[in-house]
Amino acid sequence: MTPATTTQVRTLGNYIDGNWVPTTSTEFLDVVNPATEEVLARVPLSNAHDLDAAVQAANRAFQGWRQTPPAERCKVLFKWKNLLEEHFEEIARICTQEHGKTLAEARGDLRRGIDNLDVAVGIPSLMQGEALEDVGRGIDCVSYRRPMGVFAVIAPFNFPPMVPMWFIPYAIATGNTIVLKPSEQVPLSQQRMWELLEQCGLPPGVVNLVHGGREIVTGMCEHPLIKGVSFVGSSPVAQYVYETATKHGKRAQALGGAKNFIVVMPDADLEKSVDILVESCYGCAGQRCLAGATLVFVGDAYEKFKGPMLDRIKRIKVGNGLEDGVELGPVISKSSLDRIHGLIERAIGEGAEMLLDGRQNHGQDKGYFLGPTLFDNVTPDMEIAREEVFGPVMAWLKVETLEQALAILDAHPYGNTTSIFTSSGKHARTFAYHAEPSMMGINVGVAAPMSYFNFGGAKGSMFGDLKAHGKHGIEFYTDRKVVITRWF
Ligand code: NAD
Repeated sequence: MTPATTTQVRTLGNYIDGNWVPTTSTEFLDVVNPATEEVLARVPLSNAHDLDAAVQAANRAFQGWRQTPPAERCKVLFKWKNLLEEHFEEIARICTQEHGKTLAEARGDLRRGIDNLDVAVGIPSLMQGEALEDVGRGIDCVSYRRPMGVFAVIAPFNFPPMVPMWFIPYAIATGNTIVLKPSEQVPLSQQRMWELLEQCGLPPGVVNLVHGGREIVTGMCEHPLIKGVSFVGSSPVAQYVYETATKHGKRAQALGGAKNFIVVMPDADLEKSVDILVESCYGCAGQRCLAGATLVFVGDAYEKFKGPMLDRIKRIKVGNGLEDGVELGPVISKSSLDRIHGLIERAIGEGAEMLLDGRQNHGQDKGYFLGPTLFDNVTPDMEIAREEVFGPVMAWLKVETLEQALAILDAHPYGNTTSIFTSSGKHARTFAYHAEPSMMGINVGVAAPMSYFNFGGAKGSMFGDLKAHGKHGIEFYTDRKVVITRWF
């Protein structure tokens, strides 16, 4: 992201009260294609005035929307789903251009987003409460799930179409109204998805989109009319959002950063596991909260996997994600690339052995590229084993026993995801039972829960108790009201 330098490109507006409107702010950022460095658009850094207009519109729309029968609310989601399917390739291409991930990855990103519509259209059944006759003599009790009002949704850069969809469908299907702030680094796929949403017949104010950065996030956490905040991003910001929102009396779910260890046992299936392990780290250029970038080889697993892994990693094709056959696109920005270069320098300084140096081998003369980078002989105390890299850098650690591998996971403050590769049910069971990260793969490289399960980690990777989508999504966006009735 660089300061805005050109007026030739489209300037994005906010979507407030059923209209696209310009910001009242004078600050803008360029949205840059990380593969070509081309400026794609200008995104406003909106201000408190813009946010307040959106929140007031959402608040005005709430009563009418909550009284709309749930099945009718869901008709909007069916329409949106159909439009998103119709424009699927177009949106995936936008995602690749703004983010850098390959077209195949962008398709997966959008698909996983749309999946949430498939779940949320079940709200007339899923939102039902509970009832019991005769809780006392002649007294009946009903517990309703009810929408609460205006919710805020704040997204990170790494899954531009998907992450907002972890929240929007559930929030509005349950009868709430929302204000979304997409990541200012990748606002374009959401912009297009919302142009389609606009065609679905929602009353004005039910959904609002305000572009911006920190000022909007803080404003959302403090605004008196916002009832709850759904956030996804790095852990320091997740913690800030959780603490600020709850201090202001709101519900909050804040999904944070990650450092994911994958344990490879000597009995793991070599042939079937190599591609999966390589993709877990280098897929989406390592910019996944579920990236398995830190491998812990147990016992003889290292000797068994080293050669085949190296061969496969060396064959990764780097380039613009729109081109056929490309497996590894750029990272999101120059500043991200610089940050990762810093981590690489310090890993070398701390004594990690560099087997592949992606700073040299990517073959691109423009864009924020880093080829596959690989460190061997990494120890748990090194920065490269402790910090989230969020780039195509893999670190190899070695231990003698599964217990030692579990101890490494246990000592780390984050707990988003982990996986084990093994052909032993006993090892798998021991691992699943003891490892704390709450999204876990057994011979699965990216253990991303489907939309009908809950998504979210443990320890410092998650602030709050209700996770994203699945049943938790519905729980988060509804209050329980108990009515106890006696008729004389
Ligand atoms: P980020 O924390 O920099 O930004 C996330 C959002 O917060 C953005 O909308 C941004 O505008 C806003 N923001 C940034 N700095 C802020 C500040 N100081 N005060 C208030 N708001 C601020 O995260 P990112 O770089 O966009 O995304 C990558 C991070 O997100 C990684 O750490 C990744 O692990 C995490 N992530 C987690 C999950 C999960 O499910 N746990 C999923 C996706 C991404």
